[in-house]
Amino acid sequence: MSVKWILPLFSFLFVLGSTKIATSGSSEMMTLKIAAKNSFERTLVSNTGASIEFVKDNYIIVRALLEEKTAIEKLGLKVEVESSLSNLQFPSKDSEYHDYTELVQKLRQMNQKFPNYTSLKSIGRTIEGREIWALVIRTNPSTSVLPQAVFMGGHHAREHLSVDTPLRLADWVLESYASEDARIMALLDEREIHIIPAVNPDGLEFDISDDQYKTWRKNRRRNSDGTYGVDLNRNYSYKWGTGGSSSNPRSDTFKGPTPFSEPETQAIQSYVKSLTNAKILLSFHTFSKLILYPWGHTNDRINKDKDLQVYQKMAEKMSTWNDYRPMQSSGLYIASGDTTDWAYGELGIFSFTFELDPKEQWEGGFYPGDEIIQSVVDKNKEPFLFLLDYADDPYRVLNFGIGR
Ligand SMILES: [Zn+2]
Repeated sequence: MSVKWILPLFSFLFVLGSTKIATSGSSEMMTLKIAAKNSFERTLVSNTGASIEFVKDNYIIVRALLEEKTAIEKLGLKVEVESSLSNLQFPSKDSEYHDYTELVQKLRQMNQKFPNYTSLKSIGRTIEGREIWALVIRTNPSTSVLPQAVFMGGHHAREHLSVDTPLRLADWVLESYASEDARIMALLDEREIHIIPAVNPDGLEFDISDDQYKTWRKNRRRNSDGTYGVDLNRNYSYKWGTGGSSSNPRSDTFKGPTPFSEPETQAIQSYVKSLTNAKILLSFHTFSKLILYPWGHTNDRINKDKDLQVYQKMAEKMSTWNDYRPMQSSGLYIASGDTTDWAYGELGIFSFTFELDPKEQWEGGFYPGDEIIQSVVDKNKEPFLFLLDYADDPYRVLNFGIGR
């Protein structure tokens, strides 16, 4: 194919893909294509409060308010409005994804099927009063303290794949254990797994209400100015509000009035802090196929060389299985107040963010369809077991010739 054809073809696919992205729950939000070609320019954009959805070598796609668009234009970056956002897809086509009721049902079923290996706990309630559930998997009946690993999803409402992935991984290890898979039995008997598949169930439900996707990101806090939502992944306390988040309640990256202002992040905070032996945490998000590690709030590297080596080695090893690109989070753009900066910076837990499939917006973006779920779960089984394995002592990865 000649180069002349590639660009028009790509543009066509891009527009085609865009039709799968639903219009916003708040109509004042715009989707923009911006010529920003490095992390410095992307950070300038994220500092306006616009939420960066998608990163390419020489442009990004963002969701922004009018004043954020104006601020971006003042930076001198070329801005195009993506207007082909129609043809809503209906959740009934994606019935494999779990809405909140189905999610609770599924968690209860797993708990009832494996009462000796699981417990189900409510770790708090959302703004609208929904329980936030944690499924604990512990096959070892003793009362000894075992290494703990935390897996969570669904911080962002529209990222439904980030909910179903940890849910299916939990189901898979339990079924594998029950069918006496020797490797899984040996590993699980020495670990305690904490799975919180939906941190933001209010947002999840809102995003699929009225049988239409709404491209909703935040929780459902009614803000002081009458708008809705705080970005839960900008609301954690460590270096809160130091860049890449917004103080405008209407913004998609609104950091909240104070750190941990939201019941959802408060629930995570107290739950993770209550775990006395947690050294590993993974927060699932979508999309872009990335493995991200701290810091997000600064371009500086982690100052403990040994920790940085652990992060790099683990990220590289995991990428051999899922083919996601490993990088420091701020290499994409600066974002402060996220889960992983907090868990590592405040609690010393080795914490990763996976941006799951797909890679591209035209492959479905936030709404890739339910037929993708199982393949995404499959490619993340080994990374899941790997993190679980090293949850006793992540520094062990430095002793072995893995990672290349
Ligand atoms: Zn996200």
